[in-house]
Amino acid sequence: MSALDLPGWSHAYSGKVRDLYVPAPVVDSVGDVATLDDTSHLLVVASDRVSAYDHVLEPGIPGKGALLTQLSLWWFAQLDGVPNHLVAPTTAPVTLPEQVRDRAMLVAPLDMYPVECVVRGYLVGSGWAEYREHGTVCGIALPAGLQSGDRLPEPIYTPAYKAPLGEHDENISYERTVELVGPEVAAALRDTSLEIYRRAAVVAEARGVVLADTKFEFGADRSTGALTLGDEVLTSDSSRYWDAEAYSSGDRTASFDKQIVRDWLSANWDGEGTPPELPAEIVERTAARYRELIERLTGR
Ligand code: ATP
Ligand code: MG
Repeated sequence: MSALDLPGWSHAYSGKVRDLYVPAPVVDSVGDVATLDDTSHLLVVASDRVSAYDHVLEPGIPGKGALLTQLSLWWFAQLDGVPNHLVAPTTAPVTLPEQVRDRAMLVAPLDMYPVECVVRGYLVGSGWAEYREHGTVCGIALPAGLQSGDRLPEPIYTPAYKAPLGEHDENISYERTVELVGPEVAAALRDTSLEIYRRAAVVAEARGVVLADTKFEFGADRSTGALTLGDEVLTSDSSRYWDAEAYSSGDRTASFDKQIVRDWLSANWDGEGTPPELPAEIVERTAARYRELIERLTGR
């Protein structure tokens, strides 16, 4: 993956979409370089890489890293009162490299919980597939008679275990999250996730956008232990967004996320070996939808 040469920073980790850097050179008395475990600051740089079904696809979506970073920052600002991992660059002893200014976030390193906190407000995707067969979503029983794309009576919390890089995340029960992080943290993850989803759905609705579902990642603040919202938030990578007008007129396919990519891939790939290259038209349509979402939500 594409580790950049960023003055003042050294590359520490690459996920499917984002690259993490720590301040450099930080050499202690025995000559060790700082790692994610002992760094004071973290630079999260969003690339233009796009992933679907846990595969990183080629080519990237031009501008995606910058768009999603700006959207994340905007949402963090909307979520007044929810502690998050952002650090104001002006207060830090490090600088945001010019080269990645529009797609980097300066954050405090958290001790991340291995739980992907998924909230679903609508019946769609894997949730719809499971409901059709068993009447449940991630084991949670739902009323009979719901149709694909229907709004759920109440948003539901359906956590997943955050698998190490290269493995697939797996849906887990609430009880399993209690085993993983303890009862207090498990309840806080659930309640905070539902609360943020509810607030964000109202904000989106007012701008003609349906927030169908989303995923949060939280960690513990390293000095206070406080539950803190990390990662990206409410971007079109971590969330399903629909056009509200199209939705109410019955078209439940007008999405602002990477559904275009997923649909093309499932029609053109059997899931074996390396995924095919995305055609230019799919790349451009996806980029245009990402731009439209951010314009709608932020008004910019
Ligand atoms: P994976 O971590 O399995 O590679 P991913 O493909 O979702 O998953 P990215 O989203 O590309 O990874 O990379 C971001 C990584 O940074 C995630 O592992 C996320 O948990 C981690 N992360 C986000 N915010 C923080 C933080 N404040 N402190 C420590 N780690 C963080
Ligand atoms: Mg991620």
